[in-house]
Amino acid sequence: MDLEYKEEDLRFRAEVQAFFRENLPKELSDKVRARRHLKREDAVRWHKILAKKGWIAPGWPRQYGGTGWSAMQRHIWAEEYALAYAPPTLSFGLNLLAPVLLGFASEEQKQHYLPRIYDAEDWWCQGYSEPGAGSDLASLKTRAVRQGDHYIVDGQKTWTTLGQHADMIFCLVRTSAEGPRQQGISFLLIDMKTPGITVRPIITLDEAHEVNEVFFDNVKVPVANLIGEENKGWTYAKYLLGHERTGIAAIGNSKRELKVLKRRAAKARVDGKPLLQEPQFAARVADVEIELMALEMTALGLVADGASSKIGPEASLLKIEGTQISQEISQLQLESAGPTGLAFDPAYLDGRAEHAVNGDDDAAPLAAHYFNLRKITIFGGSNEVQRNVISKMILGL
Ligand SMILES: Cc1cc2nc3c(=O)[nH]c(=O)nc-3n(C[C@H](O)[C@H](O)[C@H](O)COP(=O)(O)OP(=O)(O)OC[C@H]3O[C@@H](n4cnc5c(N)ncnc54)[C@H](O)[C@@H]3O)c2cc1C
Repeated sequence: MDLEYKEEDLRFRAEVQAFFRENLPKELSDKVRARRHLKREDAVRWHKILAKKGWIAPGWPRQYGGTGWSAMQRHIWAEEYALAYAPPTLSFGLNLLAPVLLGFASEEQKQHYLPRIYDAEDWWCQGYSEPGAGSDLASLKTRAVRQGDHYIVDGQKTWTTLGQHADMIFCLVRTSAEGPRQQGISFLLIDMKTPGITVRPIITLDEAHEVNEVFFDNVKVPVANLIGEENKGWTYAKYLLGHERTGIAAIGNSKRELKVLKRRAAKARVDGKPLLQEPQFAARVADVEIELMALEMTALGLVADGASSKIGPEASLLKIEGTQISQEISQLQLESAGPTGLAFDPAYLDGRAEHAVNGDDDAAPLAAHYFNLRKITIFGGSNEVQRNVISKMILGL
């Protein structure tokens, strides 16, 4: 396996850097850098800039607007994306639903939905989890009963990320109670404006409104919105989850945040000396840096072997390591701020106040960021469940 960047990779990196310099609006990168909450219009604005350039959906086939980049180019793109402090893209449509549509939808459905995802016409959210169905997703109960050309949907989804902004939701619904649980599930696309849908906010530890409960009461959904075959939804659902896991390692983000950590810890003082030179703290920083380097080498190894385009149990490995590293860096960042990091300042985070109440804009969002990142070892399949996948699929236990 050859881990050296080739001449053409370096040229590509320079092209990507120039693109960010010239096209990423400063007010958006400033918001991301300051860890302030992004609004719907911020995300859509950036999405449209990338779509205009033709770089919004690198992983899609060329005929639908993909870039045709190699796995290495996509790795470089992800890294530069993080370093530029670019806002996240509308991932649920682009990276989760689109592969399912490409793999299993009818031609008519592809022609309708894919361009709308590409152009940010539809904001999608994911309706998998329910109050009694998270890790054990197959126990989901939201029912879809066929009546002529429609399904009637009743039930509840939960933890629906950014569902408050969504135009559409892709849902796993129960269409049969017969036989094994996995064989009675279907994959349904639902317009969020349909009568009978109620979205209620869940406010998280960092006082952010990022997740929701979504209730379905007698919701009429055209049968034309079914993806693939009725009762075969479990196959499509698992296919989608493989795509969800690959992105969560966030190596570029962690490299960026490690730099932020070192900068902070070099400035902070303990007994008159930089915190970064305090032996215990320095050892923890070194530990996480080594873990991150090892993760990057593993990911690059998969890229070099061409494995990143296939979805395998390696995704679980990257997810576990990547999320643990992100959490450890956020913890060290918070500790580096000392007591100033404890202040909680929603007005600053929402952009209602120009400066943090404690006078340290850099430290103000650290606690909220730390709390927010607790989610990453839970969603996309919890890390405990990923360990089960590894023990079964890689170790053969
Ligand atoms: C911030 C956030 C955003 C989310 N966004 C979405 C979204 O947009 N759409 C969506 O559908 N879902 C979303 N989820 C839901 C997420 O996928 C679930 O939380 C996750 O699958 C875990 O399910 P659960 O919360 O029901 O926990 P449970 O499944 O009840 O798990 C509880 C604990 O038991 C452990 N556990 C469970 N089963 C096993 C096992 N077999 N072996 C070992 N340990 C086990 C888990 O690791 C966990 O520690 C989101 C969750 C969070 C926190």
